[in-house]
Amino acid sequence: MNTSDQFLAEAADLLGARGFTTDTELVTPWLTDWRGRFTGRALGLASPASTAEVAALVRLCARHGVPIVPQGGNSGMSGGATPDESGKAIILSLRRMDAVRSFDVDARQITCEAGLILQTLHEKAEEQRLRFPLTLGGKGSATIGGLISTNAGGTQVLRHGSMRAQVLGIEAVMASGEVFDSLQPLKKDNRGFDLKQLLIGSEGTLGIVTAATLRLLPALADRAVLWVGLGDVRDARKLLLHAEKVAGGALEGFEIMPRHSLEAVLKHSANARPPLGEQHEWNALIELTADASGVDALPTLAQDLLESAFEKGLVVDATIARNEAQAEEFWMLRDEIAPAERALGPAMQHDISVPVADMADFVADAVPKVEKVFPGTRAVAFGHLGDGNVHFHVLAPADATPGVWEKNEGKRISAFVHDEVTAWNGSISAEHGIGQLKRAELERLGDPTHLAIMRQVKRALDPQGLLNPGKLVALETTGEHL
Ligand SMILES: Cc1cc2nc3c(=O)[nH]c(=O)nc-3n(C[C@H](O)[C@H](O)[C@H](O)COP(=O)(O)OP(=O)(O)OC[C@H]3O[C@@H](n4cnc5c(N)ncnc54)[C@H](O)[C@@H]3O)c2cc1C
Repeated sequence: MNTSDQFLAEAADLLGARGFTTDTELVTPWLTDWRGRFTGRALGLASPASTAEVAALVRLCARHGVPIVPQGGNSGMSGGATPDESGKAIILSLRRMDAVRSFDVDARQITCEAGLILQTLHEKAEEQRLRFPLTLGGKGSATIGGLISTNAGGTQVLRHGSMRAQVLGIEAVMASGEVFDSLQPLKKDNRGFDLKQLLIGSEGTLGIVTAATLRLLPALADRAVLWVGLGDVRDARKLLLHAEKVAGGALEGFEIMPRHSLEAVLKHSANARPPLGEQHEWNALIELTADASGVDALPTLAQDLLESAFEKGLVVDATIARNEAQAEEFWMLRDEIAPAERALGPAMQHDISVPVADMADFVADAVPKVEKVFPGTRAVAFGHLGDGNVHFHVLAPADATPGVWEKNEGKRISAFVHDEVTAWNGSISAEHGIGQLKRAELERLGDPTHLAIMRQVKRALDPQGLLNPGKLVALETTGEHL
């Protein structure tokens, strides 16, 4: 028996038929990332049922030098959960581990396993009149382990923060096979480094998250969803500041979209209707929320916010959703932008942030610049203005050849956009992580000290380099970008 046969036999022995397979039909669906940009090969698909099994598998992999690609719902946007083409790694799926271990309704805390799907978590919280304040378009697939490992964001970060702010404790299997357990939350704990925070956003390169304790909030009693037409993206920034002043803690979401994106959605989605009589250059979608104590005041608050914004000349037109069905329609217009634009042809998509105060100026500056340097393209920026994070998409010229355009012109466009973002002191990955998609760009543009420290941490925690190799951070500088 050669080494890999030996490994396969031991893995099958350890995890049983449900826990380990090399069946091509079962493995293949998990070899390609969500967006279909990366496809790899794998020795097999491991689906352990417990933390003890994960730990034993990690020890087995360490003994045989087999790389491990952790995978949750495979909804990530940066190819982080896809193995490389060598076929030497295994995929370690956490999807089978989806139990709720404990639920403390009074303390508003839930401890669940890494494979629990976000939508299921929402439902479990709602059953107890609580809510988990993080949501995103991939909620039907994304798992708690994946959300933690990418430090996911979404549309409620403005008020509640990203995944980092929701995690109270973590259980993880480290590269040595040891189990790091910080599941019991302590409000105050100053015993040194906060290792759970190091694991959050580490994209499976430092440890395998097996469970987490998460904070929950009281359920919402009501929400007011406002649609606003604006003349200029800079007015969106002024409106955001105004909304923060008037609505304070009730402001839960503030999203922007340009006229082009709204028109694309109206054309693409049969059920989409324009919220306002006329089209405007920019649109803002604002959500105000209230728990039981603030529910009576909410309609007046929404009305006051709009009236005072009109008085200040910040908005051109606006409306408040009449009921929950219309509120959902407004949000659907936002959520449908990505598919609507995909239907228009190839595009280079960038998930970027700059300091919140500068985002409107950045968009006003970068959109015409990109279109001038790359004639025939159209740049659109939409999303989470309140977090200083937009999806900056550059759509291909009408005569572009799909597949070819992305590899040639598209690559140059992305480098240009990332250079611009870096010049504005921003980040080339606001939400979606680095994965394999942006690793060379991170090496090209990242702060050398930051990168060197990340490599030192990687060497300390995963000296064999077996945890998700080729993603986010390598043991040594790769020089890929040169
Ligand atoms: C329609 C749609 C909309 C989206 N919208 C948003 C959005 O608004 N904001 C946002 O931030 N993201 C968004 N995403 C991206 C995606 O949902 C998130 O990145 C999510 O966190 C990925 O979770 P997952 O379980 O699918 O992880 P996967 O895709 O399986 O993995 C993602 C990364 O985490 C690692 N990983 C997974 N599980 C573990 C684990 N248990 N331990 C260690 N490492 C692990 C993987 O190795 C990989 O590096 C969207 C995706 C879709 C499809």
